[in-house]
Amino acid sequence: TSALSPPAAGVDFDSFSFGLNGVQTDSMWVSTFNAEHGEWDVGGLVPRGPLALDPASTAINYGQSIFEGLKAFRQVDGGVKIFRPDRNAARMREGSARFLLPDLPEELFLHACDAVVAANARWVPPHKRGTLYLRPLLLGSGAALGVGPSPVTTFCVYASPVGNYFKGGVGEAPPISLQVAGQYRRAMRGGAGRTKAAGNYAPCFAASKEAKGAGFSETLFLDAAQGTFIEEAGASNFFAVVPAASGGLELVTPPVEAGTILPGVTRASVLALARAELGHLLTAGVAERPLALEEIEHATEVFCTGTGASISSVGSVTAPLGEDGCSAMYEMNGWGEVTKAVANKLFAIQWGDCADEHQW
Ligand code: PMP
Repeated sequence: TSALSPPAAGVDFDSFSFGLNGVQTDSMWVSTFNAEHGEWDVGGLVPRGPLALDPASTAINYGQSIFEGLKAFRQVDGGVKIFRPDRNAARMREGSARFLLPDLPEELFLHACDAVVAANARWVPPHKRGTLYLRPLLLGSGAALGVGPSPVTTFCVYASPVGNYFKGGVGEAPPISLQVAGQYRRAMRGGAGRTKAAGNYAPCFAASKEAKGAGFSETLFLDAAQGTFIEEAGASNFFAVVPAASGGLELVTPPVEAGTILPGVTRASVLALARAELGHLLTAGVAERPLALEEIEHATEVFCTGTGASISSVGSVTAPLGEDGCSAMYEMNGWGEVTKAVANKLFAIQWGDCADEHQW
C-alpha cells in the first residue's frame, strides 16, 4: 500500500506489548448480513467504539462467534504490508461454515483489512518497532432465543498497535517455558479446535493462569483422547527438531487433519520456508505428523509460532509428575540454529528486507 500516513509523532511505540496499549485507534470496519436479504450490506468505516448487541444475540448466548488475527508491517519505504491476509480470509470462511455463519467473501475481508490499515495508518508503528494488529470478528449479532444460528451477522475489523510479543530480536528474546497441561484439554476430535472460535479461548484461561502462577510462560496442550501427543502451546503452534531413526534431524509439527489444532498461518509459512530452504540443516526432512510428548526428551530445538508470538524459542518443556511435582523433560538455552534460520527468513519477508518470492 502506498501514500499512508507516517507513524504518529510523540507515541512511545517501543513501550507497547501485545495488547491495546491504552490506544484507541481511529476507525473500524463494520458490515452486516441480514438473512432476510441474504446478502452483505455495503458496510464501511465507522469510529472505533462499542458494537450494539441485543442481549439475546447468539454470539453472547451461544458463542456463535469467530475471529482472526493478522498483522500489518511498516516497510522501509514507509508503505505498509499486511502479511498473508488471503490465508486469514480463507480460515474465516472455513470457520463460518462450521459455525453456520454466512459466507464472508474474500474480497470483503481483504477490502475491510486494507481500509482499516489505511484509516489507522498513523497507528502502524515505525519499521521493526512493532506492528498494527488487525482483529476481524464474525459474530451472530441478531436476537434468537431458541438455540440456533442468528438471523443477523456482524463482520467487524478493528486494529491495535502492538509491540513484539516477546521482546528482543531473533536469537535475543529469552526462550519461553512451557508447562504440559495436567487436567485441562483444549479440543477433541469432532469439536471445533480447528476453528478460531471465541469459545475456544476462555476455557484455556484457567490452564494458562495455572501455568503462569507456577512460573511458566504458557500451557502446552495434549490430545484429548490419549494425552500422549502434543497439540499446541497457548495460542501458538508447536515445532520440534528431533533426531530421526535414520540419522539426521527432522522438523516436526503436529498434523491439523484431526481438526483439533488451529491451522496457523505462521505454521504454514514456517513449513514452506523450512521445506524450501533448510534442507541442509534438516536432512531427515520436514513432517506434519503426530508428535508424542516423550519425543521431546531427545529434541535439539523447540519453538512456537503464531501471529502474536511470531517465532519464540522454547527453553523448557515441563511435564507434571503426579503429586510430587514436575520435571523438565526438555531444556535448552538460547535459540537453536533451525529456529534462528526460520525466524530470520520469516522476519526478512515480513519487513521487506528480502525478495518475497512467495508473494506473501
Ligand atoms: N493456535 C491457536 C490456538 C491460536 O489462537 C493461534 C493464533 N491465531 C495460533 C495457533 C497461531 O496461528 P497464526 O499463525 O495464524 O497466528
